[in-house]
Amino acid sequence: MPMKENILFGEPLFRKLEEEKAGGKLMVAEVAPAVRVALGEMFGFEPGRNTMGKIVSLLRKLGFDYVVETPLGADIATYYEAMDVKERLEKGTGKYPIFNSCCIGWRTYAQAKHPELLKNITIIASPQMTMGAVARFYLAKKLGRKPGDISIVGIMPCTLKKNETDEKMKNGHRYVDYVVTTVELAQWAKGKGLDLARMEDGALSEIMPGSSRDGMVFGVSGGMSDAVLETMAGLMGEKTEVVDLDEDGAIRTKTVKIGKHELNIAVVQGFPNFEKIYDEIQSGKRYHMVEVMMCPYGCVGGPGQPPLALERVKERRAGLVRAGGESRSKTPLDSPGLKALMDEFLETMGRKKLEELIYFNR
Ligand code: SF4
Repeated sequence: MPMKENILFGEPLFRKLEEEKAGGKLMVAEVAPAVRVALGEMFGFEPGRNTMGKIVSLLRKLGFDYVVETPLGADIATYYEAMDVKERLEKGTGKYPIFNSCCIGWRTYAQAKHPELLKNITIIASPQMTMGAVARFYLAKKLGRKPGDISIVGIMPCTLKKNETDEKMKNGHRYVDYVVTTVELAQWAKGKGLDLARMEDGALSEIMPGSSRDGMVFGVSGGMSDAVLETMAGLMGEKTEVVDLDEDGAIRTKTVKIGKHELNIAVVQGFPNFEKIYDEIQSGKRYHMVEVMMCPYGCVGGPGQPPLALERVKERRAGLVRAGGESRSKTPLDSPGLKALMDEFLETMGRKKLEELIYFNR
């Protein structure tokens, strides 16, 4: 099998990123939500402690010019996903169930075991890809740089997310150039003699807005469903019950009422549990949305995170839900930063170009 040039691990990855910086690339880190409640464990903090401010400072010391957050990509993906589902409901069109795209483990599993379901996976790219594409083109425009002069690096809780560096948009650019996992970030920092615990709290680069609470909770099982339902209800001028993010259970099903619509939702952790839901679907049960996450409790329990007893992964989940609660806006709809980004950039480029950035290139 040929090696994929951008899928690198450990020291060769760190050297490559240092070479890119030395070669004049503008280095941009986008940090996934689950990283902020787990990286600290490798520096003496308890699981669930939100160290995002310190992570920003650490990334700057490692050479990143801009630090932005993947939850903003989740907000963008949520907004356009909610618009799509709303339109399907109102027109009575479209295929159900709609599956999530945010979990690459699930997408890989579907491709291998259930290719018949690929058409039901939302066309909107994962939050990492959406954020990478939007950051590349927005920063290029704002800073007068070429998109290819920018190196987008995902800081992710997931080793499998490295595979997203292999995907290119229709315009030929990668959504994301490299991925560093949570564990790798700790190794890289320690190799440079940097201690997260000694970092001051830094702030995200102001050039791009921070996310809403909904974007942040994508890192826990149920977070994506919660975000899309809440946003869709907001678009319809309605309110809805949200998915209980603290609730345990490898399969959670619920009927959610939004205006005159009743939506059957399933939130699933792990593939054996997905198969149980799929058996139901094949027997005629109608689900509108099914969220599948490969890892226990979602990305907080991802394979790129420091090893932790399963029971304690709940502490990361609680930490991330708390961190989301501190966001200035609750949904993408009440985020002034996202609104400004849409008015200035996303909604001015024309639908075709927008789709190049936020859709999978299928
Ligand atoms: Fe990766 Fe696991 Fe998150 Fe899926 S649930 S994106 S496999 S960390």
